[in-house]
Amino acid sequence: MAESDQGKSPNANAQKKLAQKHLLQSDGLYQYILETSVYPGESECLKELRELTANHPRGLMAVPADEGQFLMLLLKLINAKKTIEIGVFTGYSLLCTALALPPDGKIIGIDMNRESYDLGRPIIENAEVAHKIDFREGLALPILDELVQTEEMLDSFDFAFVDADKVNALNYHERLLSLVKIGGLVCYDNTLWSGSVAEPPDATMSELGRSIRHYTIELNKALAADKRIEISLLPIGDGLTLCRRIS
Ligand code: SAM
Ligand code: CA
Repeated sequence: MAESDQGKSPNANAQKKLAQKHLLQSDGLYQYILETSVYPGESECLKELRELTANHPRGLMAVPADEGQFLMLLLKLINAKKTIEIGVFTGYSLLCTALALPPDGKIIGIDMNRESYDLGRPIIENAEVAHKIDFREGLALPILDELVQTEEMLDSFDFAFVDADKVNALNYHERLLSLVKIGGLVCYDNTLWSGSVAEPPDATMSELGRSIRHYTIELNKALAADKRIEISLLPIGDGLTLCRRIS
């Protein structure tokens, strides 16, 4: 035990150790990350789409820039060529993906709302990556069901990003494990749901927030118990769980 810890209760020491396991302690520190490591390298098109999305009434739905940057690096590290995204909105994470893929890369982007995607589409077209994108308008579950019935789609994707309705996350999981190849990644966004997953059951929150918290906790439990994947829950953005398919 460190000298400064002697005399403290085991609980206080445990708490101090826990606090040392994560880095973000202030908005200032987050701003520091954005300004030193994210914004300087951000391409013009991503900046433009991020700013357009920030002015949208539901702009908070887009992944933050540091998470977008992480996803791009991850896609390059795994040499992803074929990906799928559930929940496109204005296309910020989709554009991150399209920019990270090689020129012949392909993304299927699914969203039931084409209007939001149409807002971002001119920026995506100007970025000259629209040819990589196959946008499919509609509910994700029937679209995934159709994909799993297509022989050449099975075990063919390198990467999937899930950022839509949390109530269906486990339904998406079953389909995606047939579509993503062994060794590929399925990533779930918002798996910490503003930290609410660790709050007591009687904590004050909206009915919708409580319902999403419930489905997020169920998803987290199921992913941790799923022997077909190995996982890591990263405290980036609102929580991002990486699942590598191993069987
Ligand atoms: N990934 C996007 C980004 O980072 O910019 C944000 C996606 S936003 C959080 C969620 C999107 O999922 C919304 O655009 C919504 O229309 C879509 N969505 C929600 N439920 C859906 C469903 N059942 N099927 C298809 N799309 C759905
Ligand atoms: Ca999200």
